[in-house]
Amino acid sequence: MQISWLEDVLRGAGVSVVVEGDWLNRSAGASFEPIGVLWHHTAAPSSAERPHPALDICINGRSDLPGPLCQALVDHFGVFHLISANRCNHAGTSGGSGPIPAGDGNTLMIGWEIDYAGDGGGGVVQEMTPAQYDASVAATAAVLQRLGRSADHARGHRETSTSGKIDPSFIDLDAMRADVAAAMGEEPPPTPPGTPFRTWVAGVNVRPTPDTTGTPVGYLPTTTTVYVECQTEGETVTESGYTNNLWSKLSSPHVGYINNVFIQGPASLPVDACPI
Ligand SMILES: [Zn+2]
Repeated sequence: MQISWLEDVLRGAGVSVVVEGDWLNRSAGASFEPIGVLWHHTAAPSSAERPHPALDICINGRSDLPGPLCQALVDHFGVFHLISANRCNHAGTSGGSGPIPAGDGNTLMIGWEIDYAGDGGGGVVQEMTPAQYDASVAATAAVLQRLGRSADHARGHRETSTSGKIDPSFIDLDAMRADVAAAMGEEPPPTPPGTPFRTWVAGVNVRPTPDTTGTPVGYLPTTTTVYVECQTEGETVTESGYTNNLWSKLSSPHVGYINNVFIQGPASLPVDACPI
C-alpha cells in the first residue's frame, strides 16, 4: 500500500503540511499495510529557532538504520513534514498493544516522529508542545478515519516496543486516545460498573467463585486496571509474603473473582460487601 492520500487527508483536517521533496518515492522496504498510527518523540530538543532538528535524520536515516525513519515529522509549531508515503523504519517489532497485533511494526503502523527532547535527549528535558499535540491528535484522527479504524488503533511506541522504547515521553496515551476518539466523533467507551483499582502481579487467574478451585473464567497477563463491584470472604491466598482471605468481584476486564492480595491498596478495599 502507498498512502499517497496522506497530504490531502491532513490538509482536510486543518493540519499544516510541508512536503519534503520526493516523499512519494522514499521507502524502507515493500511490506506496508497499516492499520494504526504510532506516536514517537525524536529525543532532539526543538525550539522556535530550531523547529525540526531531527528532520534530516528522519529523511536520510542513521549509520545503523536506513531512512526514511517516519512517514511524517511534527515540528515545534505542529507543522507536519511529509517524508514518505511508504514503509518506514520507525516501529521495529510490535509486541502487540490494544488492537495492534504482534508482528512487523513498520508494516502495521504509520509513524509520527514528534520533534521534542522528551526525558533527556542530550540532557535536555522537554515536553511535547501544545501545537504538536493538537496537530498530532487531528492528524491521527483523520488518518484512522481514512483507514476505517477506531481511535484505539493509535498507540505510543512505548506500548508496542519489544526493546524498551520510552517514547513519547510525558504523554498520557489513554488521554491521547480519548482526544483522538473525540476528534473522530466516537462515543466514549462506557465505564464498567464498580471502582477501578490496579493489580500489581502479572499472570492472575479470574475465578468463578472466591476460591482457587474453579476453572478460570479469565486471565490477567499483565498488571492492569480492574473494576471491583464488591468484595467477599473466601479461600486464603498468599502472594509475595502477603496473605488475604478477601476476594474482589470484578466487572472488568473479566467478570469473576480475584483475591485482594493481587490488588494494590489495603487488604480490605473501600468497596461494598457482596450481597449474600
Ligand atoms: Zn519511537
